[in-house]
Amino acid sequence: MPELPEVETVRAGLSTILPGCKIVSVVSDNPKSFPNTQTDVDKFLIGSEVIAVRRRAKVLMIDLSSGYSLVIHLKMTGQLVYVGQQRFGSGHPNDSLISKLPDKSTRVDFGLEGISGADNQQARLFFNDQRKFGWVKLISTIDIPNIDFMQRVGPEPLGPDLSADILFTRLQRRKNTTIKAALLDQSVLAGIGNIYADESLWGAKIHPATLVKDLTKPQVSLLYKEIVFVLSLAIEQGGSSNSTYVDAMGKKGSYMNFARVFRREGQACPRCQTTIVKSRVATRGTHTCPSCQSTSG
Ligand SMILES: [Zn+2]
Repeated sequence: MPELPEVETVRAGLSTILPGCKIVSVVSDNPKSFPNTQTDVDKFLIGSEVIAVRRRAKVLMIDLSSGYSLVIHLKMTGQLVYVGQQRFGSGHPNDSLISKLPDKSTRVDFGLEGISGADNQQARLFFNDQRKFGWVKLISTIDIPNIDFMQRVGPEPLGPDLSADILFTRLQRRKNTTIKAALLDQSVLAGIGNIYADESLWGAKIHPATLVKDLTKPQVSLLYKEIVFVLSLAIEQGGSSNSTYVDAMGKKGSYMNFARVFRREGQACPRCQTTIVKSRVATRGTHTCPSCQSTSG
């Protein structure tokens, strides 16, 4: 599943390409993927220009000159691929990032027209989503902060609204759960999924099954630093890599190559050489070093 660094990779890439482009057509094969009325599409999408591409948590927003935005959630298998004079794709790692489009995973196909410089040719933006859990919704830009998701989601881990102290306070709402479950709770903190929860807990030497109420302030402070570290590193590397993951510029993301515990069960802990084990915490496959991460926290 694309996590915050992957969605940030999509945002950073598309924001260098889309602003200034005009949307001239849209085709969708699935109303769940594109649940918008024809009236809204005609009035607020077709003919409008892209002003900016933003991200909040794992949600992307493509702001349009009509005062509306395309709000996009990639969910399990979503990806966005721009095909014009250059090609740019990111999100769920599979061959649709690099193969001929549209293909059978294409749910929405936008026709674009560049309006400046040499890039005035036709281009396309494809929303591909094998499992069809993702969506692209046309929403009035000023109403976005009021939608349910935005009301519930916690602060950005890399933004100015989070600090070690704020994280400690926000965690207290989940004090009787495990720290892993609390980190995965998007209302505590935005955008942390399984990979980055395991990696940051290993970095802070905290066992994922530790109850939030048993964590000290210095531990949470270290955890905050590790969250910032692993997410920043992953963004720098273009997100996490599975076998076919290719980022916007067509280079493979390499986070998985330098993950310290995630999917490294049976290998040596890079810090103490103890064998990394896989268990289940918060219903998710969880990777820990039994020596560095003691259960008592
Ligand atoms: Zn270790």
